Amino acid sequence: MKRKTGQDRSITETWRPATQAVRGGTARSEWGETSEALFLTSGYAYDCAGDAAARFAGEQQGMTYSRLQNPTVEMLEQRIALLEGAEAARCQASGMAAMTAALLCQLSQGDHVVAGRAAFGSCRWLTDSLMPRFGITSTIIDGRDTDAWRDAIQPNTKVFFFETPANPTMDIVDMAAVCGIARENGITTVVDNAFATPVLQRPMDFGADVVAYSATKMMDGQGRVLAGAVCGTRAFIDDVLLPFTRNTGPTLSAFNAWVVLKGLETLDLRIHRQSENAMKVGRFLEGRVPRILHPGLESHPQHALAMRQMKACGPIFSIYLDGGRAQAHGLLDALKLVDISNNIGDSRSLMTHPCSTTHAGLTAEVRAEMGVEEGMLRLNVGLEDPDDLIEDFDQALRAVGL
Ligand SMILES: *Cc1c(COP(=O)(O)O)cnc(C)c1O
Repeated sequence: MKRKTGQDRSITETWRPATQAVRGGTARSEWGETSEALFLTSGYAYDCAGDAAARFAGEQQGMTYSRLQNPTVEMLEQRIALLEGAEAARCQASGMAAMTAALLCQLSQGDHVVAGRAAFGSCRWLTDSLMPRFGITSTIIDGRDTDAWRDAIQPNTKVFFFETPANPTMDIVDMAAVCGIARENGITTVVDNAFATPVLQRPMDFGADVVAYSATKMMDGQGRVLAGAVCGTRAFIDDVLLPFTRNTGPTLSAFNAWVVLKGLETLDLRIHRQSENAMKVGRFLEGRVPRILHPGLESHPQHALAMRQMKACGPIFSIYLDGGRAQAHGLLDALKLVDISNNIGDSRSLMTHPCSTTHAGLTAEVRAEMGVEEGMLRLNVGLEDPDDLIEDFDQALRAVGL
């Protein structure tokens, strides 16, 4: 694999994010293909036994096994690191594989984690159910409350973990303030940046140490594959994350990496257009539903902070109806264009009832504390013409008496 002259890292590092998304990390084989090659191989052959020994000893550059390295996956890892402004990145098989690896690779029995309470359901399962089995305790706080982060610190606190905007209530964490508190106390901050992507916000610019992704969402962006990534310093990725992932094996497949590489080419275009569409649909819905939580609208209690941290609002927001589950399900069933689906970041508009789907596995108390109510619906606004979406919502809202 050679890189075209002008594509060595010292040059590609200076490119702006939209250029990185198209070209960052590209490596060409002897055939000079323009599009990234898909290397479907589990192993690698060596010219001689001495080469195999040298590679295993780390004395010779090259790949040994696709649980450890793959040329297609490596292109994606470099592209994501360049987009993020991170020294290094490693891909995993899904967003949850990335979150699990980012946390467990650095935590041991006796450690303590502080986490924002509004979070993806499985992320809450990690802190609430998995970690206690291994003697890792956690304090769950309202991530919007900056003082709560400081107050929750214990002598054994190792990690702060949060997402912003958070699923599904669109809570915003003040990243500069919270990452600053972490730094002062020698705590590692892990940010789940699935909703914003590096195009809208780069948590490391605000002092985050580790950024983890579900690349299933905006990065693929067309609802095709599961993928995840963890970004950090070279030392964190090589010395802390890699020993964990190489030996536990949450490896991303080359095929899925290739699909995400193709997805990243249009990430900048998609997320800005989907944010614009989300603003139009949000403004329409704001006049028609009792309550809306949309980081792009002035009515969101943390709108100013959200817009300070993010370049645009992103495609996701939530609405609340007064008629509980019956009215929420009624609205979903009346939609003709928007699909009922719990995925997000897709180019299709999708809507879900978190209480009975993504957050159904949590107890009623945890749901209530997170603001996941029976009348709540979460919407991902896609790339359709927003006027068609507005017409669909208009007829569906009328069908449930709104
Ligand atoms: C979807 C999602 C995840 C999990 O990602 P998968 O790719 O589905 O495993 C984690 N965090 C957030 C915020 C998500 O939206």
